[in-house]
Amino acid sequence: MNAFDNMAFHLTAERFGEFFEALRQTFRLYAPTRFEKRGRFSDTDSIRYADIQTPDALEWREKSHFSPKEAVFPANQSLFQFVNDAWIEPATDDRPLLVFLRACDINGMDRLDTIFLENGGVRDPYYDRLRGNVHFALLECQQSFDTCFCVSMGTNATDNYEMALRIHEDGAADVLIRSDDLRQRIPAGAAASAFAPTFPTRDGSPVNVPPLDALTDAIRDDDFFDHPLWDDYSQRCIACGRCNFSCPTCSCFTTLDAAYDENPQFGERRRVWAGCHVDKFTDMAGGHQFRKQNGARMRFKTMHKIYDYQRRFGKQMCVGCGRCDDRCPEYISFSTCINTVSRTLKEGR
Ligand code: SF4
Ligand code: SF4
Repeated sequence: MNAFDNMAFHLTAERFGEFFEALRQTFRLYAPTRFEKRGRFSDTDSIRYADIQTPDALEWREKSHFSPKEAVFPANQSLFQFVNDAWIEPATDDRPLLVFLRACDINGMDRLDTIFLENGGVRDPYYDRLRGNVHFALLECQQSFDTCFCVSMGTNATDNYEMALRIHEDGAADVLIRSDDLRQRIPAGAAASAFAPTFPTRDGSPVNVPPLDALTDAIRDDDFFDHPLWDDYSQRCIACGRCNFSCPTCSCFTTLDAAYDENPQFGERRRVWAGCHVDKFTDMAGGHQFRKQNGARMRFKTMHKIYDYQRRFGKQMCVGCGRCDDRCPEYISFSTCINTVSRTLKEGR
């Protein structure tokens, strides 16, 4: 604890701009921002994370289409370059990164931390290096969006942030500060505020997550493994992987060695996102392939998100952000899938 713990301020739009400018002297500001006409349909926008310079670039009214996980787990990352027997790691931007994100995504970062830093007792050095620079600025959600189910997943609230923000329509903001360093950047003369962030208490799309012991019983039963409920997804899912790539907690990747035609002794190793819905994800030597049917992939993802991870680490992997529901071009809803599994188990399969 220090003298500045939990100090809140009301910043007018002008002072909020000054605060951003002061933050930019030290931090890269990484926040959801709007890319006009870059959405999946013509005339629609894309909202995703990028470096921003001013408060008006921060899109706080709508949910971002993609998560902030690229801050610590880039979609395509050069791990090292090699020439003959020598290798070199590319330089990284080591400036501190202040990430503006919602409570579900802070919990999503915790799920990634568990996988990359704790799983099997090994810390992933590439993740660790990026993660060490990250600081969290909580964006308050006063209520859930339509497809959110963070309350059902227990991930609607968090205490893991250095600063919290409530932004107002006129560009002003209430800011709760929890570190000396950030407090120094509040403009002189800023008014005190009684602000403390609230968290949503009702889901837009509530889910019933089946109890762990019911799922344990189910996976011992071939009837559940081959249940017709999964066939529906074989019909509808097109294996595009958008659900995986928009998810804040999907952490699968593949490793590629790219050598140059002119000199095959010269090249680089890359880490590239992969996803359990996508073709070739389970390909093995000899041409063997697990989970050829897209319904089997949906079953795998579902059980991983609401069962395997929880059994291993004692917390749900899915944080209920609802992005997979928002992004699926086939309108496949993961929250509906969880409820269908729940109902199926209750009805005795
Ligand atoms: S599975 Fe869907 S709802 Fe759950 S964290 Fe991933 S994107 Fe969000
Ligand atoms: S986004 Fe939808 S269609 Fe694409 S892989 Fe995921 S469930 Fe299948």
